[in-house]
Amino acid sequence: MSKIKKIVRSNVMGFCMGVKAVMHKVEEQVELNGNTDIYTYGPLIHNPQVIEKLQLQGVSAIKSPLKGDGGTIIIRAHGIHPEKRKNFVDAGYNVVEGTCPRVLRSQKTVSQYSRKGWFIVIVGDKGHGEVKAIVGCADKYDVILSAAEAEELYLPEKTLVIAQTTLSKREYNEICSILERRKPDIKIIKSICPATSQRQDSLHELTSQVDAIIVIGGKNSANTRRLHLSALKSGIPSWHVEDVCDLPDDIYGFETVGITAGASTPNWVIDRIEAALKKGI
Ligand code: SF4
Repeated sequence: MSKIKKIVRSNVMGFCMGVKAVMHKVEEQVELNGNTDIYTYGPLIHNPQVIEKLQLQGVSAIKSPLKGDGGTIIIRAHGIHPEKRKNFVDAGYNVVEGTCPRVLRSQKTVSQYSRKGWFIVIVGDKGHGEVKAIVGCADKYDVILSAAEAEELYLPEKTLVIAQTTLSKREYNEICSILERRKPDIKIIKSICPATSQRQDSLHELTSQVDAIIVIGGKNSANTRRLHLSALKSGIPSWHVEDVCDLPDDIYGFETVGITAGASTPNWVIDRIEAALKKGI
């Protein structure tokens, strides 16, 4: 028997601007071309339900041009290494730009400064698609992620620092203050996207209104995992679920339940989970 009396949705949750825009581009392409030869450059977003839906629509993820007559390649919000983009153009693909405008801005900044001979420090995760896309615009560069690396890093005369857009502001500020101490004239670009902190701040407000929290999103979504971690840190019982089947029985023992979702979680998954919570067991 469910005790849930009230479900409170976080004020800011789900798709961010960049993901919303690229999803719209995919829908447009499917409408225009049916399901023929439409690809995304790597998995479009870190969400299994969306990836499955795309596969059912005939849209698959590729990392290099396939043998044949090309097709349409949709660049995901994380962007693409310029050389990889060129490979698709050379192979005759119609390239649809899905790179988030914020990531495009970082790529342009890095290209401009690199052309003038600057050394680029990218603060982010080396393996992340966005970092790979930014690295592709740099000539001389290094990628770091920790304060210890910032202490050791080689810093030539003209150095620019830029962050992966989804990095936490606190981590970036800590690293930048070390670099500024070591090199006061270092140029720092404020490239962090507010989407992540807006979802975190909104979750923080939610914790004062509810008895337990459900965080919705792909298990492979870093920003969803961080939301879950923050919810746990607040001391409120919290679970990270991908879909209805992951809802724990314990959640039905709370009267007021909060829900939030990562930037790659579609509304229809959020709605489905809210409906299941309302229905109870
Ligand atoms: S998190 Fe920000 S930078 Fe990344 S895709 Fe979304 S809106 Fe763009």
